[in-house]
Amino acid sequence: MDMPPRVFIVGAGFGGLFAARHLAGKAVDVVLIDRNNFHTFTPLLYQVATCVLDPSEVAFPIRSIFRRSSNVRFLLGEVTAINSEEGSLVVSTGSGIREETYDYLILAAGSTTTNFNGDDVRKQGFELKTLHDAVLLRNHILRQFERAAWESDLDRREAFTTMAVVGGGPTGVETAGALFELYNHVLAKEYGSSNWLTARVVLIEQQPHILGAYSPKLRTAALAQLESLGVEVLLNNSIAALTADQLQLADGRLIPTRTVVWAAGVSASPVAEMLPVQLAGRNTVPVEPTMRVVGHRRIYAVGDMAYLVDPAGEPYPMFIPVAKQQGVLAAKNILSHSEGRPQRPFIYRDRGLMATIGRRRAVAWIYNRLSLSGYIAWLAWLGLHLVTLMGFRNQLNVLVNWTWNYFTYDRSVRLILEHGPDAKRSTTSDGDSGVV
Ligand SMILES: Cc1cc2nc3c(=O)[nH]c(=O)nc-3n(C[C@H](O)[C@H](O)[C@H](O)COP(=O)(O)OP(=O)(O)OC[C@H]3O[C@@H](n4cnc5c(N)ncnc54)[C@H](O)[C@@H]3O)c2cc1C
Repeated sequence: MDMPPRVFIVGAGFGGLFAARHLAGKAVDVVLIDRNNFHTFTPLLYQVATCVLDPSEVAFPIRSIFRRSSNVRFLLGEVTAINSEEGSLVVSTGSGIREETYDYLILAAGSTTTNFNGDDVRKQGFELKTLHDAVLLRNHILRQFERAAWESDLDRREAFTTMAVVGGGPTGVETAGALFELYNHVLAKEYGSSNWLTARVVLIEQQPHILGAYSPKLRTAALAQLESLGVEVLLNNSIAALTADQLQLADGRLIPTRTVVWAAGVSASPVAEMLPVQLAGRNTVPVEPTMRVVGHRRIYAVGDMAYLVDPAGEPYPMFIPVAKQQGVLAAKNILSHSEGRPQRPFIYRDRGLMATIGRRRAVAWIYNRLSLSGYIAWLAWLGLHLVTLMGFRNQLNVLVNWTWNYFTYDRSVRLILEHGPDAKRSTTSDGDSGVV
C-alpha cells in the first residue's frame, strides 16, 4: 500500500492552522511546526499589553486543537533551513536538530517587524507582534507608573507617563486608544490623586491620514474619535532620533518619553529567505494564484509571507482573512495535486475591515458596502472578535473581562511579571540605568 503524502506546515498562525484543519482527517500525513506551542489571536494582543486580557485568553494550545486528528502531528521547534532540491527542512527543537523530508511544504511563518527607522528605535522601541512582546510592554508600562509615583522631578515624571505609538494602522490606532484609557480611567484612579500623575499618549503617522486601507470618510471618523478620546495625533511626522528618555520628531519637536511602541512596517518572516527564489516587496515569496511558490512544484506559501496580486494589481494585504483563505486553498490544492486533479486559483472573499478606538468607539467597513462608525461599529467589532477567538473557554473569559471592564472601568490584569533589568531600556541621559 502507498504511504500517504507527507505535508509539512511551517507556522501555526492563521494560514498554517487553517491549512492543517482542512487536511485533518484526509489521506495525508501532516506535521505542523511552530516555535510556540500555541496559536496567537493577534487582534487582541494590544489588550494584553494594556492589561485588559490575560495572555492565556488570546492564545490556544496547538495540540488541543488537533487532539482528535490522528493524521496531524505537532512539532515544537524553529525551522532554520529548507533544502528545496532534496525536499527537506531543518528544525531546531531546542534539544537537537532534526532533518525532515516532505512531499509537500506549506510556508505560513507570517511576518516580522522591520523598518525601525534605525537602530535607536530597534533598541529602545517596543514591538507588538507576539504574546511575549505584549507581556514585555505591559510590564514596562506598569513599571513606568510605579516609578513616576515616586519621582519628584517633573521632567522625568513626564517621560515616565508619556507614551508614543508609531504607525497609524489598525494596531497603532487600537493600541493608542487602549493606552489612553488605561492611563486615564484606571491608573489615574490609583496614582493620580496623591501624586498628580497625568498621562499623555501620542500617535505618530508619516502619512497625512491614519488607517490608510480605509475610506476617507472612515479615516476622518477614526481621527475625530481618537482625538475626542484625548490621544494626540501627529500626522505627516516621524521619529528622527530616539534616546532612552526622549524622542525627536522629524519636524524638530521633542517629546519626553520612555515608551515608544513601533507599530509600523512589517516584512515577511526570515523563512522566506530560505528559499532559492527572487523575493518580492517586503521580502515576500512570489506565488502563483494556486498559492504554489513560483518555480517550486511542491512548496506553497500563504498569508503574510506570500506575494500575490489581486485583480486590480495590488498585493493582497497582510490580514487574517487573507491568510486563512489562502491556507485552506493551499491545503485543497495539495490534495488535488496528489490525486491528479487540477488546482484552483485564489479568489478572495473580502468581508471588510474594522478597528476599535477605546470603549464605545470604532470604525468598520463591512462587505465593502456598509460603513459604520461609533457605538454600532464598536458592538460589531466586539461581536466579531468574540466569535473568531479560538476556544469556548477563552471566549467566555474575554466576554466576562470585557463586561467587567465596561461597567467598572477596571483592568484586572495589572501584574508586573518580571524582575531585574528592563530588557528594552538602556541608560537614560541622566545616568539612570533603567533597572527597577
Ligand atoms: C498586533 C497585531 C494586530 C493585528 N490585528 C489584525 C486585525 O485586527 N485584523 C487582521 O485581519 N489582521 C490583523 N493583524 C495581522 C494578522 O495577524 C496577520 O495578517 C496574520 O496573522 C497572518 O497570518 P500568517 O499565518 O501568515 O502568520 P501568523 O499568524 O503571524 O503566524 C505565523 C506563525 O509562524 C510561526 N513561525 C514563524 N517563524 C517560524 C520558524 N522559523 N519556525 C517555526 N515557526 C515559525 C510563528 O510562531 C507563528 O505562530 C494583526 C497583527 C498584529 C501583529
